[in-house]
Amino acid sequence: MRDDTRRWIEADQAHCWHPFTRQGDWCAADHEPLVITHGQGSWLWDSEGRRYLDGNSSIWTNIHGHAHPVIAAAIRNQLEKSSHVSFLGLTHPGAVELAQQLCAFFPPHTLERVFFSDDGSTAVECALKMAAQYRQQSGAAQRHHFIAFSNGYHGDTLGAASLGGVARFFERSNGHGYPVIRVGSMNELRALPAETVEKSAAVVIEPLIQGVNEMRPWPPGMLADLRAWCDATGTHLILDEVMTGFGRTGKMFACQHENVVPDFLCLAKGLTGGTLPLAATLTTGTIYAAFLGAPERAFYYGHSYTANPLGCAAALASLEVFQQEQTLELLQAKIDHLRAGLAALKAAHPMVHDVRQCGFIAGIELRHPDGRKFPSAWRTGEAICLAARTHGLLTRPILDTLVLMPPLSTTHAELDHTLAALDAALTEIPDVISGH
Ligand SMILES: *Cc1c(COP(=O)(O)O)cnc(C)c1O
Repeated sequence: MRDDTRRWIEADQAHCWHPFTRQGDWCAADHEPLVITHGQGSWLWDSEGRRYLDGNSSIWTNIHGHAHPVIAAAIRNQLEKSSHVSFLGLTHPGAVELAQQLCAFFPPHTLERVFFSDDGSTAVECALKMAAQYRQQSGAAQRHHFIAFSNGYHGDTLGAASLGGVARFFERSNGHGYPVIRVGSMNELRALPAETVEKSAAVVIEPLIQGVNEMRPWPPGMLADLRAWCDATGTHLILDEVMTGFGRTGKMFACQHENVVPDFLCLAKGLTGGTLPLAATLTTGTIYAAFLGAPERAFYYGHSYTANPLGCAAALASLEVFQQEQTLELLQAKIDHLRAGLAALKAAHPMVHDVRQCGFIAGIELRHPDGRKFPSAWRTGEAICLAARTHGLLTRPILDTLVLMPPLSTTHAELDHTLAALDAALTEIPDVISGH
């Protein structure tokens, strides 16, 4: 191990605290954390000079590859003008242009207002606060509950976390946030008593596919049905497209697959192409109008770095790259290529129990060949991902579901590399498992 690597690891283990991490394992003597020093395209390099394909787009954020020259130049250019402008009482060209371009993805007079914040959690947090305050200011203060889906994930700040349905993450904060009514399906939603619906401000959902819930797609048509139910009951629809936004599902936004326009749209992760933290909550003119008039009707919410100009420059550059590189046009063939590769992987490995794909997002669930789940203490998903690392692929599992979500710029040859690394890892792993 190089001296630098050793020094970084020791200092990290002495002073850093990582998200969603069992720090005891992280700091264990036999654990060698990877120190990532740079990236290029779909690849990341560690401090030992080894390269890996970025199989989960650096936690679902990267869109056009790392160190993209157009995005890097836009950030550099903006840095020389200003790295921050307060959006409280001032504005700046990047935010204005970005807001305009985001609204232009939707039909006129639908989503036409953009509220900027910093990350996926705050994008959701904003939508919840707006939806609740809207009811207070439109004579329906009793509608202050939210309807959320079982096993959903909407971020980690308190309000967003209260909607989350993944018990192992959220049971500790349950009871601290918004009052939530949880349903598992459209049928359960339709079966809610009228008095429950009448106290609900909005329904929140990850459209098309739940991410943290081991990559579980919704049945086709469900989103359009949900929109119709919301219209019929006067409930707002909040779409959390923090993961699915910016091409991940094959269209720019997941809601476009079912011609649905929500009342609130939450965007973050891929907004800047995966370069800087920036988020946006889009909403309609009708909702916005309820915040006009008396001073106390204003939306008193914001963060210091709201609409940060570097982030806005990166986001505008990312949208430009979508055009220049025909990202979505070229993606369709990659989605098909991925589907064929995953089918071959499933056919070759009895451990592959299920493959769930939505556009360029895939979850590969591992189980015993007879269909039983592996004991969670075996951490089979983690073991496979560690094995895949030695074959040049970085990704993280969710329990025993391997996540594959490379940058949209990943080439067919790089997809082949990705699948070959998984194939090799799955071929080796039975030894690890038989060690139990
Ligand atoms: C990642 C994610 C969030 C939270 O975003 P952060 O930027 O991590 O705060 C919210 N919703 C969904 C669907 C996500 O995938």
